[in-house]
Parts: sequence; C-alpha cells; structure tokens
Amino acid sequence: MKYQSFLIKYAEIGVKGKNRGLFEEALVRQIRLALKRCEGKFRVSRTSGRIFVDALEEYDFDEVTGELGTVFGIVGICPVRILEVMEPEELKKAVVAFFGEEYPERAGRTFKVRTRRLAKNYPLDSQELNAELGEALLEAYPELQVDVHEPQIVMHMELRERVYLYSHVLPGLGGMPVGSGGKAMLLLSGGIDSPVAGYMIAKRGVKLDATYFNAPPYTSERAFQKVVDLAKEVARFTGPIYLHNINFTEIQLYIYEKCPHDELTIIMRRYMMRIAEAIAKRTECQGLITGESIGQVASQTMRSLAVTNAVCTLPVFRPLIGFDKEEIITVSKKIGTFETSIQPYEDCCTIFVAKHPVTKPILDVIARHEHNLDEKIDEMVERALATDEILIVDRDHVRVLKKAEEPLQEGM
Ligand code: ATP
Ligand code: MG
Repeated sequence: MKYQSFLIKYAEIGVKGKNRGLFEEALVRQIRLALKRCEGKFRVSRTSGRIFVDALEEYDFDEVTGELGTVFGIVGICPVRILEVMEPEELKKAVVAFFGEEYPERAGRTFKVRTRRLAKNYPLDSQELNAELGEALLEAYPELQVDVHEPQIVMHMELRERVYLYSHVLPGLGGMPVGSGGKAMLLLSGGIDSPVAGYMIAKRGVKLDATYFNAPPYTSERAFQKVVDLAKEVARFTGPIYLHNINFTEIQLYIYEKCPHDELTIIMRRYMMRIAEAIAKRTECQGLITGESIGQVASQTMRSLAVTNAVCTLPVFRPLIGFDKEEIITVSKKIGTFETSIQPYEDCCTIFVAKHPVTKPILDVIARHEHNLDEKIDEMVERALATDEILIVDRDHVRVLKKAEEPLQEGM
C-alpha cells in the first residue's frame, strides 16, 4: 500500500463549539457511506481536530479518492504514508525518500517542512524537527529551495503514536456535509437548471426531497425516466432522494379550460408551488428549491417571481437567481447532469404554454382569475396529493416506496 491513510481537510470557519461536533459527525457519516461503495475495509476516526480514513486492507486509490471527491464538506484529501516512530536519523531518511517519491520533478521548486508533534516524548520538538528535516531535504535534493512564507510544497509530518507523512492535497467539493443543514424540497423538472439548483443547496448540507409534475398522456414515460435519471445523478452527491411524482394533468387541463391563456404558465406555476409546499410540509422539509433565474423566461421576471412566491409560506430557495444560462451549464457539466438534461423529451409546461405569456402579471388579477377554478380545484389538488407515486432514487438503484393511487401511510 503506497498510502495507509487519508487525512480529510474540511473548512472550519463558521463551525465552532457545539456545531462543530455536529458538523464533524455528519461528515464522518457521509464519509463512511462513500467508503461503503469501495473495495476494502476502512476505519474513519476523529482525533485532535482531524478526520483520518485508515485503510485496513488493499484498496483502489482512484476509487477511494473518487468517492471521497463526492462528499460535501471535504475541502481536501491528503494521501498519508504511515510509519512507525523511529530515531531522528532514520526519520530523516524516511522523509527524504517519501518526498522523492511524491515529487520526482523538483528543479527550482520551493518547500518547507511543517511538523506537528503530538507525541510529546519525542527527543526533538517541532521547531527542531522542521529545521532538521528541511536541512536533510536540501542536502538530498539541492535543486530545491526553502521558502517559509509561500512555499509551493509543504511537507507535513505528524508525530503521533506513529508517524504520518503527507504533502499532496487533492481538492474536495467544499460545502457542508449533507444532513448538517436540514431538508428541502426540490422542484425537479427535466431541464438543465433544477438539478443544478438542488446540487447547490445540497452542497450547503441540506438533504433533498424532490417533486416532479407529470402530465400523462401529454408527457411520456420516457420524460419521467429522464427526471429519475437526473435524480440519480444528483444522488451521487446527496445520497438517496425521495422523488414524488405528481400527476398534474387534470389540474393543467382545468386551468387551460378556465383561465386566460396568457396566464396559464403563471397559474400553473402557482399550483406547482402550492402542491410542492404541501408535500414539503408533510415530509418535514424546511424550504422549497427551484431552478429559477431572473428574466430567463416570462414566468421568471421579477413580477412573475413575486406572483409565484405569493402562494408559499415556506422559504423558496433559488440558488441560480443571478446566474446566466452559460454559468448554469458549466455547473451542470461539472456535476454530470448536462447530457441527461438536454435529451429531447417534452415537459408538462411546454405543452400547455401560451404564445404570449404575461411578463408583468399583477397579483390581484391572477388571484381573481384563479377563482374561476373554485368549483373543482381543491378536490383536484387533494387527489393529486393523495395519488402521488414515491420513489427512493439512489445513484445505482431505484425503489418504489408507494405506487400511484395507493393510500398514503404514516411517515411518507
Ligand atoms: P429547468 O429550470 O429545470 O431547466 P425549465 O427552465 O424548463 O427547467 P421552468 O419551466 O422555467 O424550468 O421552471 C422553473 C422552475 O420550476 C424549474 O427550475 C423547476 O424548479 C420548476 N419546475 C418547472 N417544471 C417543473 C415540473 N414539471 N416539475 C417540477 N418542477 C418544475
Ligand atoms: Mg429554467
């Protein structure tokens, strides 16, 4: 084994006191989940403000670092060589050898040594160790230069019950571990934006549930499959997502029949928000998430957003609000949802869309026109809520928790 352990770096700013403990626990839980998917046995431990992943068996380096690279909250992953504690002379040789392996190209590079001595009985203190090891490295590799202020390479050594050597840092995703920040309901369509929006909120430690509005037979089974595929891709980072598939056809047709056509989209959006919020409250979500961005389409002008927002009592998180489409696409490519998002399957909104939708809706006017729906809309909303289909979508499998039309049970 080239590396026996990984030191997990995480951002500590803002997570102090009791919160820090919760943050670390959530991070350790997520790391363990990620490692379950890897060959080999590992021990994850928290010691003196650090998290280590020790390999107890052979493992695949790329697999492990790849999986750890999907865990929010990790800022950096340092592969660690562990050695038994040894006399200073032997230790110098070991550090020189490790450095040589880690950096075969050394010409003109600057470095420093940083030691942490937790084993207080070692004959040299950390200052002395820094100096001695630095000297040994310069002697072995005269092409190097010392720079204590802004070195290109930091050679770390921690003296514990054993010696930990590390230098490389593989970048992590940053953010906060999922589960440290509550839960929110993502309105997930088959488009480019909403999976990115979900990813961004989850990155702050928030667990995701999702709701999709389906309009069969106007939308196909394939369109739903696309949404499931997107949820799978987002689940690579967030863990399993409870996906609620709502049959929206009846409501859409009713709105189409009763309301002015230039207001269809906005009224439809208001019903989506109402229904998503009802599910969110039932499933103890603390907010809603959408992929809206100011001015992207008629239903996302400042006024349209205000009119849509007016039906919600939970906070609505719109992490893409100030993003251009190009910026959203960049993230969607990075997280791997782009290729699925651009598959050409019809969405329920595109089918019932008006030629000239209002861009400056007025709340009172929209609310008045919604009264045209008074006769049947409440029962339709109840029916939509009662007949949802619930899937548990994880990266590599999907399980049906409740079929459409089945009665709802406690805890769903
Ligand atoms: P996306 O934003 O996902 O790319 P879009 O741009 O077509 O799709 P809009 O129709 O503008 O989305 O809707 C804005 C937001 O409303 C979406 O980002 C999504 O959060 C939500 N939304 C739209 N359609 C649906 C749907 N069929 N099911 C669930 N949520 C939806
Ligand atoms: Mg959009």
